[in-house]
Amino acid sequence: MTQPASDSSCIALRGDMLSFRGDPFVDGLEACLHYQQDALVLLRDGRIDAVGPATELQPQLPAGTPVEHYPHALITAGFVDTHVHYPQLPILGARGLPLLDWLERYTFPAEQAYADLDHTRAMARLYLTENLRNGITSAAVFCTVHPQSVDALFEIAQGLDMRLVAGKVLMDRHAPPALCDTAQSGYDDSAALIARWHGQGRLGYAITPRFAPSSTPEQLEAAGTLWREHPDCFVQSHLSENLAEIAWVRELFPDARDYLDVYDRFGLLGPRAIYAHGIHLCEREYGRCHDSDTALAHCPTSNLFLGSGLFDLTAAKRAERPVRVGLGTDLGAGTSFSMLRTMDEAGKVAQLRDAPLSPAHALYLATRGGAHALHLDDRIGSIAPGMEADLAVLDLRATPLMAARMQHVDSLDEALAVLMTLGDDRVVRATWIAGVKRHDRDHGEPVTRRIL
Ligand SMILES: [Zn+2]
Repeated sequence: MTQPASDSSCIALRGDMLSFRGDPFVDGLEACLHYQQDALVLLRDGRIDAVGPATELQPQLPAGTPVEHYPHALITAGFVDTHVHYPQLPILGARGLPLLDWLERYTFPAEQAYADLDHTRAMARLYLTENLRNGITSAAVFCTVHPQSVDALFEIAQGLDMRLVAGKVLMDRHAPPALCDTAQSGYDDSAALIARWHGQGRLGYAITPRFAPSSTPEQLEAAGTLWREHPDCFVQSHLSENLAEIAWVRELFPDARDYLDVYDRFGLLGPRAIYAHGIHLCEREYGRCHDSDTALAHCPTSNLFLGSGLFDLTAAKRAERPVRVGLGTDLGAGTSFSMLRTMDEAGKVAQLRDAPLSPAHALYLATRGGAHALHLDDRIGSIAPGMEADLAVLDLRATPLMAARMQHVDSLDEALAVLMTLGDDRVVRATWIAGVKRHDRDHGEPVTRRIL
């Protein structure tokens, strides 16, 4: 426990608190789990100032410090969604098809609508509102090929002081002409967006080639050049999602050793590079992800919906060469905004892999694991002094069924299991971003309404 600074601008949250101090896949759960019943989390100037038992900390609070009391709830770090396409909200729940058919039939027509600025702004607003309702405080977001799809999202996220990573999709082949840029225009537009947004407040820019088949070698080369020129930016793309896709990549890039090697050859692996899916990787690819510090976004609801395959979490986290892994909703191929639903589906995928995933490990992936995957775990993803104050308050009795079920729970592990089995957006009682409450399930929040 640390002593709070004397500052009357503090606000404190009181309730049970759960966070992670490291990677439980690597260091073991016991060493990483930080659980405090009846804790006080003190926020000041957008950061966490102190954490400790309420009985010890509360008497030391500066006079007049407001305390938000959350009984029957769990205060956790805000969820981190490491892979999502906000332009695809209008095709959520469209019929599940194999990846390449799904892109052709649903994704490309939907993304063409983002030439219209009013539609773009409306979807950006809807996307961020739903994030708040689901306790998602950070995300790595694909926009469309249109630069204004990035502007619209970042404008609102900046007003919320949200730590958000996003980028304009680069795509110069194998897509409708209305959605294609060129190697040069994609480079120029991305460079302008980096200059406008990267590092503004809590925003980060991601260089975003959609996936290897939709970019020419010239465009991938330009993306690598752009990253070398702006090495503190992020890179996001897709990798090894579907067997037909992998065969296509082999045809398009016959000299590459495997799918990951395509990106490697263009200088697109390294810290702050995150690739969605990585379902069908060989041992060399896992090893190369580890060596280059490249991360994977595990998107179970999407993988099941499109029938892409079962992510091998055990292989990815193998102790001798662990890969950074976060969870992604992958909307619109993903089927839920809720990271609790996503955790639940990750558990089912793990079961089918005959390698059960503990609820605490799943929560790690949805919080600190996602932050670690984005190389942001020194700022977000856990509750500790100095961290940015992004928090989710999860109501353990959110529904009559949950309230009844929780009466028969005899361990934290079981409570988390019930939370991820029965929980969804109804569970998220409050969402705090940079020390400000931006979502209040029971009372609404005027500040949020004004910005959104
Ligand atoms: Zn995706």
